[in-house]
Amino acid sequence: MLTAIVGIQWGDEGKGRMVDLLSADYDIICRYQGGNNAGHTVINEKGKFILNLLPSGILRDTTVNVMGNGMVVDLEHLCGEIRSLTEKGIRVTPENLKISEKAVISMPYHKMQDILEEERLGDKKFGSTRRGIAPVYADKYMKRALRFADLLDFNTLREKVSDILEWKNLLLSGYRTEKITIEQTMEWLELYGKPILPYITDVTKFLSDAASQNKRIMFEAQLGALRDIDFGIYPYTSSSSTIAAFAPIGAGVPGLKLDKTIGIMKAYSTCVGEGPFTAELFGEEAERLRSAGAEYGAATGRPRRVGGFDVPASVYGVKVQGADEIALTKLDVLSYLDEIPVCVAYEIDGVQTTDFPVGDRLMRAKPVYEYLPGFKTDISKCRKLHELPKEAIDYIRFIENAVGCPIKYVSVGPERNDYLMVGEL
Ligand code: GDP
Repeated sequence: MLTAIVGIQWGDEGKGRMVDLLSADYDIICRYQGGNNAGHTVINEKGKFILNLLPSGILRDTTVNVMGNGMVVDLEHLCGEIRSLTEKGIRVTPENLKISEKAVISMPYHKMQDILEEERLGDKKFGSTRRGIAPVYADKYMKRALRFADLLDFNTLREKVSDILEWKNLLLSGYRTEKITIEQTMEWLELYGKPILPYITDVTKFLSDAASQNKRIMFEAQLGALRDIDFGIYPYTSSSSTIAAFAPIGAGVPGLKLDKTIGIMKAYSTCVGEGPFTAELFGEEAERLRSAGAEYGAATGRPRRVGGFDVPASVYGVKVQGADEIALTKLDVLSYLDEIPVCVAYEIDGVQTTDFPVGDRLMRAKPVYEYLPGFKTDISKCRKLHELPKEAIDYIRFIENAVGCPIKYVSVGPERNDYLMVGEL
């Protein structure tokens, strides 16, 4: 059984929380893309955790967790994340964490390059999380990146690093005169690379063997469809593929096919950083939604931009993800509203459309808002569909109908069991 759990919108849909819930039925949880540029917030009986790199299944005692070749991993951040979980009593060992030997290492100079370039761009900045993600993916495709397998022999590693630094210093000389030295780089690699060595695994073999033993494997995305490098709001995207179809590739088993894709979709819209965000609300209306949903970035603490549920963007997200079913999250957040704003279409150059546009057409799109009746009740304790007020059920049905994909789960609070199954009356 191979299942992907992916984001339908701009990320921060609550994927970590749903993986934490659904991972009970899986043996292996894999992250297949991204780095420490976003965070999953998970609250369960063990406490509150923000996971940037580790798969959310690390919080379960029964699952093995995999960090796949599609990821870019800052070793220093990884060591810190492992340490902070261990301090909270969570077990992280080579038995329950396997890191692909083909995963790419994100280096301090990637972070530096990211920051220097954002500063150079000034007002035109991308709103990068400044964690070096775009530079490290660029290096991967330039074939100038280090991978975990390179850590296995520190003698040959030094020569590889030296060659890379010669080129990197040349590149960075346009921004700064100081050179990155081989000593400081090797020191960093030794300090944060050596403790990670026991986790390095032939993940392709591990996952193939697991699949042939009928183990249940879940692929966990970071960020949503609209941040995908190809299908997202380019260039305001992430630098990797967040799409379900990429999951077996980024995890390490490109020959396997997904059995199911669960799309995580928020009951309204949020977006961190720059770029087109058609459904955006402003002023008092935005402030109330932001504070009701505690919409501040898990990785950066930045206030998220907010808006009503965006039908064109979510329909597109469902389509590119190939979602079979939906988990609708944070419905409880809307309970303060008399009327719920929904962006049902876009208006571009005076013409209404429900198709999700690209490029300059997307930049020119204006939201067409409709208002649905609010439910004005605290629904956070509801555990069955029939316990929800009629207006909340109508809202769920409206969205289900709009995106054309069955909503199977509705989450009504941040904790593991704050959810209901739509099929169960
Ligand atoms: P992810 O990156 O997709 O996992 O999402 P984030 O962790 O960035 O953001 C989701 C936030 O919403 C976290 O703080 C969760 O604890 C919280 N959350 C998730 N589901 C719900 C829900 O149904 N209701 C409420 N009120 N909060 C939720």
